[in-house]
Amino acid sequence: MVLPIEVAEANWLTDVFKGKDKKSEHASSKHASAQHARDLKHKTAKHEKEAKPGAAKADHVKLAALGPLNPPLSKSASVACLPAKFRIAVDVGHTAESEGATSARNVPEFAFNLRLAQQIAEGLKAAGFVSTKLLVTEGKAKPSLFRRVAVANDMNADLFLSVHHDSVPNKLLEDWEFEGKKSHFSDRFGGYSVFVSHDNTDFKTSFAFAELVGKQMKASGLDYAKQYTMPIMGHYQYPLLDKDTGVYAHDELVVLRKTRMPAVLLEAGSIINRDEELKMGSAERRDLISDAVVAAVKDFCAPPAANSVAAKSAVTKSAEGQCTTSAC
Ligand SMILES: [Zn+2]
Repeated sequence: MVLPIEVAEANWLTDVFKGKDKKSEHASSKHASAQHARDLKHKTAKHEKEAKPGAAKADHVKLAALGPLNPPLSKSASVACLPAKFRIAVDVGHTAESEGATSARNVPEFAFNLRLAQQIAEGLKAAGFVSTKLLVTEGKAKPSLFRRVAVANDMNADLFLSVHHDSVPNKLLEDWEFEGKKSHFSDRFGGYSVFVSHDNTDFKTSFAFAELVGKQMKASGLDYAKQYTMPIMGHYQYPLLDKDTGVYAHDELVVLRKTRMPAVLLEAGSIINRDEELKMGSAERRDLISDAVVAAVKDFCAPPAANSVAAKSAVTKSAEGQCTTSAC
């Protein structure tokens, strides 16, 4: 779930979607998540690359050198890149301390985000994107937003992907009992959604990547969340930028507008919808989504001819006689 600026910047999701007594109910899973997070962080740190300059950056420089003849595309990373040098920051939404939404069965969103983001990062590395870094952030909600942005900026990431799972506004929640505990659900809505910010330093490329992610999610048989255009969402409505792929604009999100590289936030699916929560918890669904993201990154780095937004950019460049991509 993504919220308007006031809540998104102040408290992210925690205070909005958490029940009052959720902390004690989930102390053990929270602890497990925290330990897992520490382990992952340690692992990630060990594999962190020190070398910053790479061929992908060289491509950027090369394109930038084309100057004003090609200004809108000069920063575009949607050109052929070297996967081994292409730095992707896969951000685990929320923290072990501030866990985001709570699922219909009282599992914190952070646990879902961690498992899926970890699988996406592993999938990217297996596909040759070995410079991929999993960002697991600790601490309170608001400072964690700026910390994850700082890490992505410091590592000169070429692409930033934040992984989340969706819920609904409080007013749409219904009560039920799960394992003897009063719990909340909403089966009314479901699906993934992809968010970008016009305030990102490179909105155009962010949008191109978001389109590829949405397209691959759709091709995997998944539906996107339609409710963000509905009046019932009140302040939680966002402009739908592409009605085919499920890409929305959410301009205020810190991780999308403060990152100095193309950035996309993926709400992978709903965990407040009882059926969908079970699916989101399955290895099959994680495989499906992870494969979709990896395919989107591959397309992004080497756009298939005339079949993606990135490719369309390439075709435009070709028409201008300045294309440097393999798609030309
Ligand atoms: Zn979230």
